[in-house]
Amino acid sequence: MDLRRKLIVCLSTAAVIAASVFGAELTDKAAKKGRDAVETSAGAAAHRPVIVLDAGHGGADGGCVSVNGVPEKGINLSVMQSTRDILTLLGYDVRCTRESDVSVHDEGVQGLADQKLSDMKNRLSLINSSGAVLALSIHQNQFTDPKYSGAQMFYREGSAESERLAESLRESFRRSLRPDNERETKPVGSELYLIHNAVCPAVMAECGFLSNPEEAALLETPSYQREVAFTLCDGVIAFLTA
Ligand SMILES: [Zn+2]
Repeated sequence: MDLRRKLIVCLSTAAVIAASVFGAELTDKAAKKGRDAVETSAGAAAHRPVIVLDAGHGGADGGCVSVNGVPEKGINLSVMQSTRDILTLLGYDVRCTRESDVSVHDEGVQGLADQKLSDMKNRLSLINSSGAVLALSIHQNQFTDPKYSGAQMFYREGSAESERLAESLRESFRRSLRPDNERETKPVGSELYLIHNAVCPAVMAECGFLSNPEEAALLETPSYQREVAFTLCDGVIAFLTA
């Protein structure tokens, strides 16, 4: 399904949820059109599964920097915000580690290293106290050789469900955004603190390479950021409804 059709499905699903929430009458045609999606989303709305979204970096920590000098943190935030909006429309209870350009360290912590430590602990605490069905950490990649491009998913080693989520996201990128994306999913250990220590299925999505000029230009564009968000939602929903 291409992104435009998916958007229609998302919006029709959201409309059906809104109509049922507000007691509006549905036409037969609308009800029929949204039937499959409604079954899924009505269940989701009833149970309100929690999803935690983490926009990587923020505040003094800009993450990596694109070939055009754009820091990763803002791209992560923009992609996260669209992902949050779509999943919320679909009835999920979305919690975010940050919703603006900030580090989420405890007040009073001094020094960048300690602030980063506190920031990561607070992000993990949100994930592990939320009862989330999954956590998705959104980042962008960088490499010394500018030829590399494409999305790549990193999952918690030893967690079959995290691996399944990573595969679902990998497949959604191939299906919806980059059919040529051959990057394999990769297990990670303690080097990725959030993913390693999350108690729910957890994946870090590196959505593309800011060191690749073509991909950086795309990732800096709001419309492409929204397409990435739709792609992430597609993978998340496929994982949750499989
Ligand atoms: Zn990053």
